[in-house]
Amino acid sequence: MERRQILYPFSTIIILKRMINMSEKTQAEILKEELFYSPEHAAYACEDEEIAKADAFCEGYKQFLNACKTEREAAAFVKELAEKNGYVPFDPKASYKAGDKVYSDIRSKALILCTFGSESLEKGAKIVASHIDSPRLDLKPNPLYEDAELALFKTHYYGGIKKYQWTAIPLALHGIIYRRDGSSVKVCLGEDEGDPQFVVTDLLPHLDKKQANRPMSEAIEGENLNILVGSRPFAKDKGSEMVKLNIMKLLNEKYGIIEADFLSAELEAVPAFKASDIGFDRSMVGSYGHDDRVCAYPSVMAEIDTVMPKYTSVTVITDKEETGSDGNTGLHSAFLKHFIADIAKTQGLCGRDVLRASECLSADVNAGFDPTYPSVHDKLNAAFINRGIVVTKYTGSRGKSSTNDANAEFMAKIRTLFDNSKVAWQIGELGKVDEGGGGTVAKYVANLGVEVVDVGVPVLSMHAPFEVVAKLDVYMAYKGFKAFLEQ
Ligand code: MN
Ligand code: MN
Repeated sequence: MERRQILYPFSTIIILKRMINMSEKTQAEILKEELFYSPEHAAYACEDEEIAKADAFCEGYKQFLNACKTEREAAAFVKELAEKNGYVPFDPKASYKAGDKVYSDIRSKALILCTFGSESLEKGAKIVASHIDSPRLDLKPNPLYEDAELALFKTHYYGGIKKYQWTAIPLALHGIIYRRDGSSVKVCLGEDEGDPQFVVTDLLPHLDKKQANRPMSEAIEGENLNILVGSRPFAKDKGSEMVKLNIMKLLNEKYGIIEADFLSAELEAVPAFKASDIGFDRSMVGSYGHDDRVCAYPSVMAEIDTVMPKYTSVTVITDKEETGSDGNTGLHSAFLKHFIADIAKTQGLCGRDVLRASECLSADVNAGFDPTYPSVHDKLNAAFINRGIVVTKYTGSRGKSSTNDANAEFMAKIRTLFDNSKVAWQIGELGKVDEGGGGTVAKYVANLGVEVVDVGVPVLSMHAPFEVVAKLDVYMAYKGFKAFLEQ
């Protein structure tokens, strides 16, 4: 067989030459790679297989979002999931061996999951703490009234909301009502196909001259976040408050309640939207309540998948973060401290010794850089969606006021852990200096003597009724928490 000589056209030779030159990095390029910190899109470092895993993980996450719009619902969901995976109620008088899984239910609004490690608790526990409450509109204790033949609910908003975002969107009603006899009924209305929904009305643009001239924060007043719940009178009898009477009659038929039962109820109006993929590429998830279910869900899945850890894992999903962590279901209370003391006692140890040796990831969201509003961020120190989980050294405001500022020693440890575990991560600061600020549960855990740093998922439109996260970041949260619990 003859040997055929291949003749390349001249242009191909030029292109090939260029390609060879391109692969030859200059000294400066090599040095830059070596010396510069340059976080990038997580997709560049991920195999296709891992991207598919992230997408699959978020299918479960979307179901969780739709099923759990309040802290009570999230706590109940996780408790059931934990029980199915072998977790049993913690018994302070029992003794436990490595691999045993227990949970502690904190008044149906917060939950601790724990897997005993092979090491003694003397070596400390690995704690991941996130929150399951989200901003919303709570009903006032005496909410129902009639005005202009419309029935409405008075509300008191919960957490930091931009009030104008909560008008003219479909709302669902969630919660629990206790009757005088102590019996209770759960409420979840506006979520299922065919359910009625509710809404806070807003002024039409034709008549909003005065409203439009007020600053955005005052355009909608808190006292005006009234929810429309009915408009048809009871029967044909004439009289006052016939629409309110009709609503009360319907509520009595459906839930067996009278008006006074509102006093012993916790009813929360939340956006009725379902979680959905965002973008032509389906790379993001839009939903109500990513803050902070986007950390709670991955942390719970990581905890459940941690089978025989070296150190005891403690996964906390707490309530009340959005109002400052106070109250007996918030992390400013003693429930975590007491739980640690109780598990310490099962090994003949003192709670404070365990706390001193423990480490915690305070798992909460941070603001993602938004190219439409670049001015509030320092681009060098902002978090970007799709660059993996954000490690936030400090939060606070006005000169780091009221923050846990993670120790360099612990930052170094977490950095190495994530790098070694191939977790895409980035650093992030909540906005420019003096632009505003915020806080997390980090300081309350740190105040117990635990090493703590904030680690979470970057979010766009944080605290809006419909927030956005990137699927890769959600998966990286799972990977990061799992690496931390399994170290
Ligand atoms: Mn949060
Ligand atoms: Mn928040």
